[in-house]
Amino acid sequence: MVLGDLQLRQGGLDLAISTLGEARQTYVILGDLPGELASLRLLGVCWTMLGDLLRARAVFSLGAELAHRGGQIEAEAVALCNAAMTYGEANEPLACTDLTGQALVLLRKVGDERSICHALVNISEGLTRLGRLDEADEAAAEGFERVAALGDARVLALFRGGRGERAAMRGAFADAEREIREARQMLTDAGLTYDAGQMTIILANALFLSGEYDRGVDECQRCLTELREGNFHGVRMALLDRLSALHEASGDTVQALRALRERQRQLLGFEQNPARVLACTIEERQRAQFAREGSKREQDHRNALVDANRQLSAALARERRERVVLQTEAVTDDLTAVLNRRGFMELAAISVDNSQRTGDPLAIAVLDLDHFKKVNDTFGHRAGDVVLREVAAAAASCLRGHDVFARIGGEEFVALISNADPVVAQLVAERMRAKVGSLRIAVQDALVCCTVSIGVASYVADVTVERLVECADAALYAAKREGRDRVVMYVAS
Ligand code: GH3
Ligand code: MG
Ligand code: MG
Repeated sequence: MVLGDLQLRQGGLDLAISTLGEARQTYVILGDLPGELASLRLLGVCWTMLGDLLRARAVFSLGAELAHRGGQIEAEAVALCNAAMTYGEANEPLACTDLTGQALVLLRKVGDERSICHALVNISEGLTRLGRLDEADEAAAEGFERVAALGDARVLALFRGGRGERAAMRGAFADAEREIREARQMLTDAGLTYDAGQMTIILANALFLSGEYDRGVDECQRCLTELREGNFHGVRMALLDRLSALHEASGDTVQALRALRERQRQLLGFEQNPARVLACTIEERQRAQFAREGSKREQDHRNALVDANRQLSAALARERRERVVLQTEAVTDDLTAVLNRRGFMELAAISVDNSQRTGDPLAIAVLDLDHFKKVNDTFGHRAGDVVLREVAAAAASCLRGHDVFARIGGEEFVALISNADPVVAQLVAERMRAKVGSLRIAVQDALVCCTVSIGVASYVADVTVERLVECADAALYAAKREGRDRVVMYVAS
């Protein structure tokens, strides 16, 4: 793990990830929980620096969970803080602040000064982003007091940067710029390139607010050039995002779009696995949402500029919308508007991967309408389509937020039921069966009833999504054989 830490410090993130992964395996075998937690923490840092916030969050959350189970309160608090940081970087300040608040309670009981200071940095950053500036000042004031005794340049610089950020939000742009630049210099002097890059993002935001778009563009571009080499995907993507907003505000649509496309290119190019790309895409969609919310706040500050930029914003928004539509269409079933097979396989693979890490149970249910050919033969194909749509909506309504529902064949559907052991999965499947059976679907002058047979297979270690679907299919055939309109659980023979 020491080697992994060294590789991380030298920026060799790929090497660091594989070394730390190996180290973790060794600690798992040795049953050395503190060692495992330390390697997980560094792995999370690697993923954060690579800009893969979802994976970073999963690693930190796993660390928090393991630490909690092992009664390692301080390690739990540090892992919670790190998970919170990923929310901060993904522009989700509320989750960031809440999670860090929980961590701080633990840290105040057992934590060391440094960890408490880190938590206070997170909290004041989160509150700043939420616009709760006075509360952010309070958290930062406590942090300043504590960090003074500690002499930690990085944390001190982060507090100063935060103070600058708030000055900008209050309209004191000269103070803001001075604070942020000094903070960035401190980080550069300490050799902390990644953090210095983060500070440039804060500076670009301040210049955006003060209306100095061209200077903001210069800062972003200079930093992007400096960070061209090395593994700084996270900062690079955030810089491209800011660059696009600054170009957009200064009226240069072409450059704004170029920056956005470059960001998208890097995001997709960095990850080949389609499931991960989909996860990134979902995150990208969330980011677009946050960007819209963020730009709404900024508009309130600068009402006068809105008119001039309206047309450009519309063009950009259209571009973003079209992109989201294309991405969504590729994984959506036209007839029922639920996910299609491809979307299901990609999302389900992520859930199964998660279960692999956390040991949480999950199950897959395959649903097939009974004697559906008869519906088509009696009422016509179009009526059959109406029935399929209603059935999809009814079955999906029996599931929870993290579950995944899709149409994978003509009159076949599949549900991934998360956090469900076989007993719960059977209950959920039974609920879907009853709901579909209770439908009275109006077509032409008749009310159509239909029933559904369901096969359910539960997750076991190391199984793939494909295999789980096969097992659920086998159970489905048994349900058909046994007379239809029933739920059958797969039992390994
Ligand atoms: P079983 O209970 O054994 O499943 O009987 P079944 O009639 O449902 O099964 P079978 O596989 O013989 O027939 C499925 C039917 O589903 C045949 C096909 O016309 C119909 N179907 C498939 N896709 C669509 C669609 O998109 N729209 C409509 N209306 N019907 C479809
Ligand atoms: Mg069928
Ligand atoms: Mg059928």
